[in-house]
Amino acid sequence: MRISRALRGFGARRKRNAALIPRASRVVLPAILLALIGCSSGSDSPPLQIQTGPTDVTSVDSDGNTSVNAGSLAVELVSLPLGSLSDVEAAGIVFMREEEKLARDVYVTLGNQWSQIIFANIAASEQTHTDSVLELITRYGLIDPVGSNLPGVFLDGSLQGLHDVLVARGSASLIDALIVGAEIEEIDLIDLDLRLLDVVGNDDIELVYENLKKGSRNHLRAFVRNLENENYSYQPQHLTQAQFEAILNGAMESGAIP
Ligand code: ZN
Ligand code: ZN
Repeated sequence: MRISRALRGFGARRKRNAALIPRASRVVLPAILLALIGCSSGSDSPPLQIQTGPTDVTSVDSDGNTSVNAGSLAVELVSLPLGSLSDVEAAGIVFMREEEKLARDVYVTLGNQWSQIIFANIAASEQTHTDSVLELITRYGLIDPVGSNLPGVFLDGSLQGLHDVLVARGSASLIDALIVGAEIEEIDLIDLDLRLLDVVGNDDIELVYENLKKGSRNHLRAFVRNLENENYSYQPQHLTQAQFEAILNGAMESGAIP
């Protein structure tokens, strides 16, 4: 049910609203300040670096593993205003905290069963994803649904069920495990898009979700590539064919979200 609702929401064009203005001014203001400082300093002062766009808060390796850099994210979050949080925004954050944990937990389990490095690598990235959502939980004083829960344990019943089904399916064969990986990334993309629809004027939440989406697109490409190496042609299970092809036809993404 959750997924079909997600599918309806997916692809709906989000309007980037006026909340983007503070982000733009963040770039302009330091530039002005730096220019003023530059005027008052001597001619032998070192060249000043002026920020020209949003900061990249991720690191992406050649295999597409996409991790959120905690330090870079913290710097970005500090620079953004703390907006008011609606109930649906709060519920979305709590849900995504556990969904990113689900990705990590499934990959850790499948990585222990199948000797394919992709699982350990992407599991490490997913740790940084769930950590980045925890940053939002802390920032807004929400109750963390993960706490000291062990791998494979979830507060949300639908995520508990999804985890158990996916681990069982991925335990059948290496190809099944890789298919489960691709499916998790599809579901993650759809759920992030759905939760983004609920976000109104909170650039901090958008920043985290958009970077997690970039990670999921890269991870989807990585799992599909690994399946191709096993002579398996993966077909999308949740995204539309067009959405899937648009992602797969693109190169691994690095750099800041524009
Ligand atoms: Zn993720
Ligand atoms: Zn992922």
